[in-house]
Formats: sequence, C-alpha cells, structure tokens
Amino acid sequence: MSNRAHNFNPGPAVLPLSVLEETRDAVVNFSNLGMSILEISHRSKDFEAIVQAAEADALAIMGLSAQDYSVIFVGGGASLQFAMIPMNFLRTKADYLVTGEWATKAAKEAKLLGAVNEAASSKDKNFNYLPKSCKFSPDADYVHITTNNTIYGTEWKAVPDVGAVPLIADMSSDMFGIKRDWARYSLIYAGAQKNLGPAGVTMVVIKKAFLEAKAKDQVPTMLKYKTHIDGKSLFNTPPVFAIFVLGKTLKWIQKEGGLAAIEALNQAKAKLAYDVIDAHPGFYKGTVTDKADRSIMNLTWNLPTPELEEKFIGEAKKRGMVGLKGHRSVGGIRSSQYNACPTESVETLAKFMEEFYAENK
Ligand SMILES: *Cc1c(COP(=O)(O)O)cnc(C)c1O
Repeated sequence: MSNRAHNFNPGPAVLPLSVLEETRDAVVNFSNLGMSILEISHRSKDFEAIVQAAEADALAIMGLSAQDYSVIFVGGGASLQFAMIPMNFLRTKADYLVTGEWATKAAKEAKLLGAVNEAASSKDKNFNYLPKSCKFSPDADYVHITTNNTIYGTEWKAVPDVGAVPLIADMSSDMFGIKRDWARYSLIYAGAQKNLGPAGVTMVVIKKAFLEAKAKDQVPTMLKYKTHIDGKSLFNTPPVFAIFVLGKTLKWIQKEGGLAAIEALNQAKAKLAYDVIDAHPGFYKGTVTDKADRSIMNLTWNLPTPELEEKFIGEAKKRGMVGLKGHRSVGGIRSSQYNACPTESVETLAKFMEEFYAENK
C-alpha cells in the first residue's frame, strides 16, 4: 500500500501495515471460523488462545518468566492505572517522580488515597529536563516513575536506583521501544495506543511476589489487580478487539528481531531528526535542555516563531507528514517516532527540515 501517510501522531499512533492487514482479514473472517474477531465469544478457546499468546509473547520479549510475573490486559486506559496503583498498593506513603503532565496526573490520584512525596520534580522549568537527584523515602510503599514524558520529550534512559522500594513505571509511550532491565520493576503499565496497538486496552506487568506481599484486600473487585490476574484477563468481557491487535503487534516485534533490533532502529530514527536540529540550533530549538534526557520516541522542538511553526506543520502536511503539532499545552513541534514509524518517514522528515531551514532561516 503506497498511500500510507508519514504518520507522526502521538497516540493513537502508527501501527505496522502487516498488523493492519492481518486485522482487516480477521475483522471479516477470523481464523476461517466464518465469524469476525468482533463476533466471537471472549470465552471461546480461540480468544483464550489469543490472550494466552499475548501474555506469553510479552513476557518473552522482556525475558521474564511466567512464574515470577503476570501480564494482564485491562480497559480504562493508562489513566485508570493512576488510580488502581494507589488503590491496591498505597498504604501510607508513595514516592512520585513528577516529570510531566502524565506523571502529575498519576501523583494527583495517589494524593486522594494517601501521602505522596514528590521525590523529584522538573516542574520549575516546564518539565524540560529530568531531575538529576531524587529524595526517596526509605519507607515508601513504592516509587512511581514515568519512563517517557510524551508531551515534553524527555525519557529516562537509566532509571534512578530506588533500593529495596518497589518500582512502578508508566511506560505508555516507550513500552517495547527501548530495552530496559525489566526485572527491576514490580509493576509496569502501558496504554496500548502509543506503541503496542489500538486504544482501549492497557497492558500491565506485575511481579507476583510484590502482589502477594503488598496488595490491599479492601479494593472493589474490578479495580483489584488480583481479580484480573486470577481471571487471566477474562474476569469480565475484556477489550477483545484491542487485545487481538496488540497480540499481532507483539508478534511483529518478535519478527523484527525483538527489542535489541527495535531499539537500534528507534535510536537511528531519533538521530536522523536530532542531527538536523543540532545542525541548526538557532532555528530548530530542541525543548529538552540536556541532550542525555532526549526521548527517542517523542522529539520536541520549537521554531523561531509560532507562525513559522504553523507554516512548518502546513508544508509538512502537503508532503504527506501528519501529526507533527506539539501537544496543545506546550505548542511547537513534536515528532512521535514509535516502533511502527518507518525509517523512511523520518528520512522524509529530516530532508524536509533541511529544506525548510534553507528557505526560512
Ligand atoms: C498517553 C499517556 C497516558 C494516558 O493514556 P490513556 O490511555 O489515554 O489514559 C498516560 N501516560 C503516558 C506516559 C502517556 O503517554
């Protein structure tokens, strides 16, 4: 299909074409059953196999064992996790690293349920950097980190050492885009619509020992992690279609060579765009002050004036590039270069940036 846009949408975002094609076929006739994936029972053997494969593939991609970790697929978006985490695990106090809008929203929910220590914050400079030191509480129930700050374009490459305190991470916008030391985390969650699939499902990875030792009991059934773990994501009707597409995307990640190959591609794509920014620093102004903090998923920059930014977005669109407008809260340009964003799209962007610079400097 040659009429694909160069899609830089921040989320919902680009998906692999092969995944879309497999999905298209399954929407009409899933697995030769004479029924659509939208028409089968979530309790059927066929759908159970899809959930089990997605769980196994997610663990395989991370190199984690099913003995130690559970993977569940739930609704409500990453935003529901902001509340579920403190509901299940906040007993007295939790540490939050406040490095962006989503991190702020996560901390806000926790404050409704217990004490929150902002172990570090970069709010003083509109989140344009990652804090270099954190004041962790040794007795915190957990530390919450947002590994990639989707709106501000920062990404923790190395996550601070939190000692023995359980580490919980919102990886919505860089899940499986970068290799991480997965075993360090007690809980990882990611809304699918950035890097894993369509909107409607959130993947949650939970260390079993953490759940057993720390989870609270007095939690409404649907908001309790144990419910969905025991039910193998089938306690109630899950987002069947979104799980199906997510499962296909996990297979695609493995076919591409797994995380090492995917990250190498993402690093190369990020370099293509950052190199142009760095070649013309008076014109393309990266918003992140420390280059080490720059995200390889969401790249953010400004042009000398809002008018030029608007012109940039308009001309990019004429060349088939969409989704480059910065988040409404910060403006500027944001290029979201998730796993399924082809290198060719970023090459097109980088070439356009050079031309735009030459014509408008
Ligand atoms: C997009 C995003 C969210 C919100 O996800 P929803 O699924 O819309 O609730 C949360 N955290 C991060 C880091 C995000 O990028």
